[in-house]
Amino acid sequence: MNSVASGLSDRGMIREGNEDSFVIDSDRGLFAVADGMGGHNAGEVASRMAIDVLRDYISRTVSGGEVLLGGHDHNYSDSANRLASGIRLANRVIHETAQSNTAQRNMGTTIVSAILDDDRLSIAHVGDSRAYLLRNNGLIPLTEDHSLVAEQVRMGLITRENAESSTQRNIITRALGLEQEVAVDLCDLPVASGDLILLCSDGLTTMLADEAITAILLDGQEPEEICRHLVEAANSNGGRDNVTVVVLMVRGGALSGLSRMFNWARSS
Ligand code: CA
Repeated sequence: MNSVASGLSDRGMIREGNEDSFVIDSDRGLFAVADGMGGHNAGEVASRMAIDVLRDYISRTVSGGEVLLGGHDHNYSDSANRLASGIRLANRVIHETAQSNTAQRNMGTTIVSAILDDDRLSIAHVGDSRAYLLRNNGLIPLTEDHSLVAEQVRMGLITRENAESSTQRNIITRALGLEQEVAVDLCDLPVASGDLILLCSDGLTTMLADEAITAILLDGQEPEEICRHLVEAANSNGGRDNVTVVVLMVRGGALSGLSRMFNWARSS
């Protein structure tokens, strides 16, 4: 399966700095977005560190052969387990750096990450940065926020509408760097040609409703154009936060049954 990807990070209209980071490593099929927090420039440091440690971990390990930090969960693919392991490592590195440096004492970061391996997409996340799949014109959330309001919605204490207007919307319940260990949520799903995958920080989802995001994803021809339109729309709605988007378009690659037989006949 082939894919085309693009990413864009923007300071937004109000914030002085940008504490978001992202990576696209097409050679390894790795994509990730992190949204940092902490005083001064600590949020920026934490999100950059998370992305760098994860990218480095994925490039140093090969599927199936690595020693996993936190063990192997047999309910998930090797790729998902590698993402989880890399995120746990990033958590420790950020936590240790924060402990030994007063200026960065409370720094932390979210992360949402994906590996595309042939026709399977693996997702790992911590915090309220999200992954979505656009398939057959419908937007499907692939992650559940680790946030106070999202947990209250899941427990039936408040409605989704209450959550969206809540002043507590930005309180997250899980992040990298805050404690020595972190729980990472995983999922694996098959993807097909035509699927669009979006990874984003909450600077997008607090400024744009799902319907607006869907319209922009459906409207764009190329990932680069879609990223630009998403950031522009978030900024024209107020741009109250840093906004980061990574868009991955899955294309062709998988051979149809007939052409697979044809190729087999040709090569035998
Ligand atoms: Ca944010």
